[in-house]
Amino acid sequence: MSRAELEEFFLSLGEPKYRSTQVFKAVHERRLVSFEEITDLPKKLRAKLEESAAISRLAVESRYVSTDGTRRYLMKTADGYPVETVFIPTENRDTICFSSQSGCPLKCDFCLTAKLGLLRNLTVGEIVEQVIIVLNDVYGVAGETPHGTNLVGMGAGEPFLNFDNLIAALEIMADEDGLFIVPNRVTVSTAGIVPRIYDLAKLENRPHLAISLSTANDELRDRLMPINKKWDLDELMTAAKEFEGSLRRGERFTFEYVMLGGVNDRDSDANELVRLLEKYQLKKVKINLIPHNGAEQLDYNASTAERVSRFKSLLESNGVDAYVRQPRGRDIYAACGQLAAKSEANSAAMN
Ligand code: SAH
Repeated sequence: MSRAELEEFFLSLGEPKYRSTQVFKAVHERRLVSFEEITDLPKKLRAKLEESAAISRLAVESRYVSTDGTRRYLMKTADGYPVETVFIPTENRDTICFSSQSGCPLKCDFCLTAKLGLLRNLTVGEIVEQVIIVLNDVYGVAGETPHGTNLVGMGAGEPFLNFDNLIAALEIMADEDGLFIVPNRVTVSTAGIVPRIYDLAKLENRPHLAISLSTANDELRDRLMPINKKWDLDELMTAAKEFEGSLRRGERFTFEYVMLGGVNDRDSDANELVRLLEKYQLKKVKINLIPHNGAEQLDYNASTAERVSRFKSLLESNGVDAYVRQPRGRDIYAACGQLAAKSEANSAAMN
């Protein structure tokens, strides 16, 4: 519930308004997971809440810990659908990668989540609770988060097909009486749901944007990411251009590019990408090259390290900033494109 909904709820119970702030803080700032623990509420009210409400609607089924410290959480909704969340620590920053849908309706050919199909959209509560569960696991209930937390909406699902819930969840997580993870620390990624890119551009408190591009060629993109048949590169780049116009001073946005050996990693592919950015005069962009994470059901090979580095320098020599995303948690199926609710991991890495 948003703060307004929570207020409404307490009023409907015949309780004073300030109770809603008390409970909001208990759930989001102190990260308490049951009404029982909110001992500053009268016992009678706690019992009443126990009957009419729930703090938690997700259960952690299993937790996998990678040799690189990445953690993958396989959770289940109250009605039995899988939800996956990933914790990615680096030396001076933690990132939590949350899911917006159970499964995914998009049929990107190189992605394992696609094999699940769409199970359902996640609720606002299910999006927020993923983050609370991870923080409580890593730092203990109500534990300090030493260097803050960045969020990425890059887990399972297409965030822009669950746009309203996504935005409502981000608003709750940004509240300074709660998790206080401000939009500036959040990046959401879309495979190219064009109308929502325009919507995001208009939002005042909005997260950063990443667009999964993966090729500058319509014909190839139709095959790799069938969503391209609905909104092609011209429509996508026109929206991206509009979005660029809404960026704050110093802000940039990202194109993600999954590197598929022999498919989209040739010199000619890099040149085509440079020309595409030039055509739409996109300047405040960076390219994130993502080495492909393989799986048995996927028919692609990762580009060689030499190819990735050659591709990167081709972009750079044309004035395009490019970075290579370091794969994390591959051994536990936690890396990009590997979230498919697998109840497996390299047993040596299990915890
Ligand atoms: N549906 C959204 C959010 C998911 S983000 C989107 O597509 O942007 C997940 C990222 O991982 C996307 O950039 C996607 O292109 C990339 N990806 C998918 N499968 C992958 C794989 N097997 N290896 C590496 N990256 C992959």
